[in-house]
Order: sequence, then structure tokens, then C-alpha cells
Amino acid sequence: MPANLDGNVLAGPLSEVFQFDSTTALVECMHCGDVKVFAVAQVWEDPMGLVARCSTCAEVLMTVVETATGTVIELRGIASLRVQSEAVAD
Ligand SMILES: [Zn+2]
Repeated sequence: MPANLDGNVLAGPLSEVFQFDSTTALVECMHCGDVKVFAVAQVWEDPMGLVARCSTCAEVLMTVVETATGTVIELRGIASLRVQSEAVAD
């Protein structure tokens, strides 16, 4: 049986994933399955933060909320996020 790990084990892999230009990442909408670069998402400024919606179905892809202690990012509308490494990028 695999051992339970805490979130610290994600620090290495996530630090690599989140060092990209998110506007060029391919985002798969969890609601409609459309796949587009994140740059085409529709973003609204809300008093609580930013809300990114799918440009095809308008469902929420992601929210970003700045708090006094940091930034909270929810990705609940994203089925997958594809980031090409620079070695294979066109
Ligand atoms: Zn969609």
C-alpha cells in the first residue's frame, strides 16, 4: 500500500509546472471539452478577484483571489492544462 504524503512532495513538480507563460498553455475545459490556449479565455474582474471563463461555453475555468496572506487559485473548471517544454516548443 502506498504511503500517504503531504503537499510538500508537490513542491518540486509544481514549481516546474507553474514557471510558464500561462497564456500559451493549452487548457481543456471540464464543462465542454474544448481545448484552446489560455490567452483566449474570457476574464472578468470581480471585487473578490479574477474569474476566467471558457470562451466557448462561458463556464468558469479558474479563479484567482488575492488575500492578505497570499494568492488563492482555483482550477475547478480545467480538465487539463498542457504546457510544452521549451525544448519542443515551436
Ligand atoms: Zn467550455
